[in-house]
Amino acid sequence: THAIHNHAIHNHAPHKHVTGEQAFESLRKTFDSGRTKSMNWRRSQLNALRTMLANNKQALCEAVHADLGKPAAETLLMEINLVLEEARFVQRRMARWSARHPKPMHWLLQPAFGWTISEPKGVVLVISPWNYPLLLSLEPMVDAIAAGNAVCLKPSELSPATSHLLAELIEQYMDNDAIAVVEGGPKETGELLGFKFNHIFYTGGGRVGRIVMQAAASNLTPVTLELGGKSPCFVDGTMNLDTTARRIAWGKFTNAGQTCVAPDYVLATPDIAEALAKRIAVAIDEFYGDDPKTSPDYGRIINDHHVERLCGLLPVGTVPPEQPSSPLIKAASAFGAAVDMVGRRFATAQNSQTTSAASVSDDTSQPGSHALGEYGAFDSAGRLMCGGTVDRAARYIAPTVLLGTQPDAPVMSEEIFGPILPIVVVQDVDEAIALINARPRPLAAYVFSNSREARRRFERDTSSGALGFGLPLGHLISSRLPFGGVGESGMGSYHGKAGFNTFSHTKTVVSKPLFPDSLRFVYPPFDGITGRL
Ligand code: NAD
Repeated sequence: THAIHNHAIHNHAPHKHVTGEQAFESLRKTFDSGRTKSMNWRRSQLNALRTMLANNKQALCEAVHADLGKPAAETLLMEINLVLEEARFVQRRMARWSARHPKPMHWLLQPAFGWTISEPKGVVLVISPWNYPLLLSLEPMVDAIAAGNAVCLKPSELSPATSHLLAELIEQYMDNDAIAVVEGGPKETGELLGFKFNHIFYTGGGRVGRIVMQAAASNLTPVTLELGGKSPCFVDGTMNLDTTARRIAWGKFTNAGQTCVAPDYVLATPDIAEALAKRIAVAIDEFYGDDPKTSPDYGRIINDHHVERLCGLLPVGTVPPEQPSSPLIKAASAFGAAVDMVGRRFATAQNSQTTSAASVSDDTSQPGSHALGEYGAFDSAGRLMCGGTVDRAARYIAPTVLLGTQPDAPVMSEEIFGPILPIVVVQDVDEAIALINARPRPLAAYVFSNSREARRRFERDTSSGALGFGLPLGHLISSRLPFGGVGESGMGSYHGKAGFNTFSHTKTVVSKPLFPDSLRFVYPPFDGITGRL
């Protein structure tokens, strides 16, 4: 991490550390001066951002790789290029969006004129997470600049290489009095939340989302919350299973499953559930080879904490517990193991000390047929169909597919946000919809079905931030489609016009000449008017 990071640093001037207070005060002053409102300023800053990305693609890819082991192609495709496209899209349209939009006035008020105009909200705070550390920092920033705001960006401390590089590059390329990066974690973010921003745009988990909204409430600051959740994926076997499996595998295992709109779990009908699981295993094999750990195209888990969390979601016995490091932890973990033994009836002892339960290389002649439970444990998490291999030191978790997962299993109780794909068997569309509707509203839902009736049912009878037929993740790629959640997956949206609107106030303006004073018909005294109304 450090080698790559230093390499990035040495190409640029060292970054001045900016405190939240310094940033906020200077942004406020700049916004109040009116500078950020001019179209020229907006254009110059979007151009600067585009140049910054174009000139530093390699360093940016290296930083994201240092943080997440993300392949450069993925960073280019899913982060840098999306930001560049968004910048081009809004740049071409922002003048039109900001212009006056005339509206007809009520006949009683005639002659009179009415129009709307979009004005920037002011000084806005963008708080971003670690999983797409460029995209989720810069895309909101692009929309905020297009709308004429001063922007304070707070990248995630969990992706430090990208956070540092963004701070440096933005300082080097952009208008520092109007666009600032404040680095840090919960403490620094908490300080920022104390300032009276005009809008807060937060992307991340719901727990911190609540902290952000509560802090914003005391300043009456509007918020956009881009949160997560468990996005379901329904498959009924009326579509080609190979293509379905590849699409799901791509959506799930991109960025090692750490994508807010990744299919979190599959709901499959009984006729095809097992075949689907096997074909997803084949797709994994096609994408990442026999041993995904050696594939340059497969990412890593962000930190040790998340590796442990994910291990806990696998069927009991899949992964041996972490080697205890101190006597105290040893005792605690022995106690935990004892509780585990009593509590989980189906826990099976592992024969070998290796962490591999059922690796993709068990049977290379028939890559889809490996590991039907006989290797792995069987409990409410389901049967291990492939993967289950963990290398803690490398923060590696193999792409893992579980079949027959129970809806009340731990893996079904929280957003997985990692490369584990449970397949829950449901009888039909009704059962799938009932299961989805019994849970918080997800950020996305996906449906692989040829049945027009089934697709219509999902569109009408479920609620989610977005809905994809035959396509996971795709909806976030268009600047023409608003992106955002609903209920527990968030509020508000962005991308393109939606993003411009999020960072704008639509001001209504009316104008009526003093002559003729047609309003005198409604002035008091009202005698005689009532009869005519
Ligand atoms: P994270 O830990 O990076 O946290 C997000 C931001 O909140 C960071 O900038 C962090 O510094 C800040 N933060 C953390 N603790 C804080 C506190 N106590 N007070 C104030 N600020 C604090 O990211 P995360 O929450 O682990 O992100 C993963 C979640 O984000 C998942 O649930 C995922 O689905 C969701 N997500 C949603 C989207 C979307 O577009 N809707 C995109 C990506 C991720």
